Amino acid sequence: MENIQMLLKQGAVGKPCAPVVKVGDKVKKGTLIATPTGLGVNVHSSVYGEVVEILEDRIIIKPDDEQPEEYEKIAKGTNLEMIKEAGVIGQGGAGFPTFIKADAHLDHGYVLVNASECEPGLRHNIQQIEEDPAPLLRGIHYLMEIAGADKGIIAIKKKNRAAVEALDALLKDDPAIERHLLPDIYPMGEERAVVRECLGIELEPDKLPSAANAIVINSETVYSCVAAIEDQKPLIDKNITVRGMIEGGNEAHVFEKVPVGTSVGALIERAGGLDSRGYGEIIMGGAFTGKSTTLDAPITKATGAILVTRQFRDLHGAKVGILVCACGGNLERMQELVKKYNGTETHVCYCKQAAEMPNGTRKCERPGNCPGQVKNNLEFKKAGCEYIIIGNCSDCSNTVMASGPKMGLKVMHQTDLAMMAIGHALYRTLKVSKKVDQDLDVVDNVEDNETVE
Ligand code: SF4
Repeated sequence: MENIQMLLKQGAVGKPCAPVVKVGDKVKKGTLIATPTGLGVNVHSSVYGEVVEILEDRIIIKPDDEQPEEYEKIAKGTNLEMIKEAGVIGQGGAGFPTFIKADAHLDHGYVLVNASECEPGLRHNIQQIEEDPAPLLRGIHYLMEIAGADKGIIAIKKKNRAAVEALDALLKDDPAIERHLLPDIYPMGEERAVVRECLGIELEPDKLPSAANAIVINSETVYSCVAAIEDQKPLIDKNITVRGMIEGGNEAHVFEKVPVGTSVGALIERAGGLDSRGYGEIIMGGAFTGKSTTLDAPITKATGAILVTRQFRDLHGAKVGILVCACGGNLERMQELVKKYNGTETHVCYCKQAAEMPNGTRKCERPGNCPGQVKNNLEFKKAGCEYIIIGNCSDCSNTVMASGPKMGLKVMHQTDLAMMAIGHALYRTLKVSKKVDQDLDVVDNVEDNETVE
């Protein structure tokens, strides 16, 4: 077994933790190895082994040959204290500490569970619900009690029929929790989109779900809260989807309970290894919001997927315009892609609804409702762009396509090479209904593919 690398900062938000072990220490699964220095959560070893190196950003552990199932349990306490002690963070995105989010003091509010698994091609969240839906419901009740909520709502895409049916079988006996069906559109999993879909409340970009008397929590995170409360288990493993240019085919490989700190390369090997025909890049996370990574990078508590993309084609220096959307890659990510395509960055536009936040990130003012992109396309044309690369959501790609090609612009989407690799339609022209009938038995008029070329 390769060395495990436990990053001192496990999510995108917060400060790095401080190690509480030293080189030469023997650790067990669940041994506390680092504690927060600011916004953050405890980090526990995910394996039995020995600390062999402590770097500025990580603790490296050489695993023992034997890896028993047992783990060092966290101390008993209130449910909220146990979620905190276990180091639970949001496992669907930025990795915000769950104990802070859950301690919401709502006024008879809502716990909204994000089970949308919104990024295309991922399957680990839905598979977890299909296999064992009961803990999800128990976890919602724990969180409702902690947060001061009277109601739980599970937001899940209608296309995931087996998972919806598994939930429905339990929900008929649980009047406090219901499920809300979502269309298969990106970005239905965006926090404010979940609030809008479930509660009909449009939040401003700078508002948190608490402004709608709700918290939004990823489904896998709910399971981790249950493990902390019922089994005194720290968050030391993660479910992951590995997919793309993998030897043997491009179906989703779902690995459950992968030790945090496992390398990207080890997981790709487990899935069959890199496709011998070559690949473009490896993305950690989803195709829209993930970042390029390397084979030796470790997964964290917040990592959801590893995608291996198709090769980049060579644009031979052609002029490329970048259209930045709040729901896709940021400017740096888009610039990285232009370089990998061997294009010449020529002009940058932002969607006018991609509002800049005080921390420099952007949030969409109205997720999934595009204002149209004619003005930006005209700017690209004027700047002499031959290509444009966009990161827009399903609906907004539609509006780019309504005018871009007519102006002679060749449109590429930041997710194209990942979508080709996983056998998913490219994000170009939206073809699905944005409304979903909430009755699973009604004939489903929503197409499986989100978009078509
Ligand atoms: S309106 Fe569409 S393109 Fe604009 S920021 Fe929002 S999701 Fe992105």
